[in-house]
Amino acid sequence: MTVAEIVTIGTELLLGEIQDTNSRFIARSLRDIGVDLYRLTTVGDNIKRITTTLQEALMRADIVITTGGLGPTVDDPTRQAVADTFNVPLEYKEELWDQISERYKFFDRVPTENNKRQAFLPKNAIAIRNEVGTAPAFAVELGIKTLISLPGVPREMEHLMNNFVVSYLKKRYNLQDEIILPWVIHTISLGESSIDEIIGEMETLNNPTVGLLAHPGQTDVRVTAKAHSTEEAQKMMEPVLLEIRQKLRNAIFGENEDTIQSVISRLLREHALKLSVIETGTEGIIFQALSEHLGPENLSGELLDVNIGHETIKTLMYEYREKKQADLVLGIVLTPHNDQQELYIALLDDQNTEEYQRIYWGPPGDAKRWALNVGLDLIRNKFI
Ligand code: ATP
Ligand code: MG
Repeated sequence: MTVAEIVTIGTELLLGEIQDTNSRFIARSLRDIGVDLYRLTTVGDNIKRITTTLQEALMRADIVITTGGLGPTVDDPTRQAVADTFNVPLEYKEELWDQISERYKFFDRVPTENNKRQAFLPKNAIAIRNEVGTAPAFAVELGIKTLISLPGVPREMEHLMNNFVVSYLKKRYNLQDEIILPWVIHTISLGESSIDEIIGEMETLNNPTVGLLAHPGQTDVRVTAKAHSTEEAQKMMEPVLLEIRQKLRNAIFGENEDTIQSVISRLLREHALKLSVIETGTEGIIFQALSEHLGPENLSGELLDVNIGHETIKTLMYEYREKKQADLVLGIVLTPHNDQQELYIALLDDQNTEEYQRIYWGPPGDAKRWALNVGLDLIRNKFI
């Protein structure tokens, strides 16, 4: 495993005058070649503090990449700090000076005496030719460790990453392109902590990794594999997915792009069933969610006044079954009550009514989404 850290240099970053976009770019480039990034650090234009930061980073990581502070002025401190980090002097490089002068000539300008600073590099550093700016970049290799210093100007830094650094690192660390494949299993009706109990052991796996993501009334299990190809990643996660499917069984309602409404809609269509929804206190969330997938041959709905009792809705459900010629009628009443939300749900088929009362303790804003999951799960239970 190859580990990297990024150090961005510039007091203007610490003053909040500019935003550090360089780290983001470099982080993605490293991710794409399978280098693990462990830390981002920002340090001001101070030679001592930069030196300490670089020495610490090099103790932890194989690769340290810096940006900024390579300009021609006295307060551009990176060259000196890198020299101090490795305890070597700065050396004048005639060929760098030629490159700098050439570039100035190209723009019809004459380099100043100050620009000479940019022709100095830490002893033994490898110069990285900068075709899009004047500040030369460089790399210092020490054993297995590498420190790379790039200019702060994003356009220049990006160019050097794309045209030199990525292929240089791939070769030096024998890196292969790696891909990260995510797979999501959606569960309903079991809470996050119950799922955690059932598959907790798997959450300590390294590759693939297994993690949980809780939504109101729904918990997602996310499996992520890192490999050299999609096929390899799929192969690696297959036994893990199998074990999760076996352990969570009926709590699973779908995978990846599936939503509870798309799954229920598919079931209704496959069985040629018509559902009628009567809801109050939910702003019609259930009908709306289903109507994205179903037409009137499978769905009808009614949004009612908030103040309605359980008996009234039950009577209405019977009326609707006849009036709409529905095979299933789902009735939902969501009522806020102090800090919690009370939910009454009932499902009527061609024979009897199942009814339940549930209480939601979570954030009030999430109650409707929760009611949607609980209500549609009741329908799903008819099919398992
Ligand atoms: P130059 O030779 O142009 O002076 P340099 O290597 O000295 O380059 P800096 O002077 O530190 O780089 O930064 C040049 C400009 O690049 C800054 O004014 C800023 O606009 C931008 N910059 C520097 N660091 C970052 C960063 N981490 N993220 C985004 N932009 C940055
Ligand atoms: Mg500068």
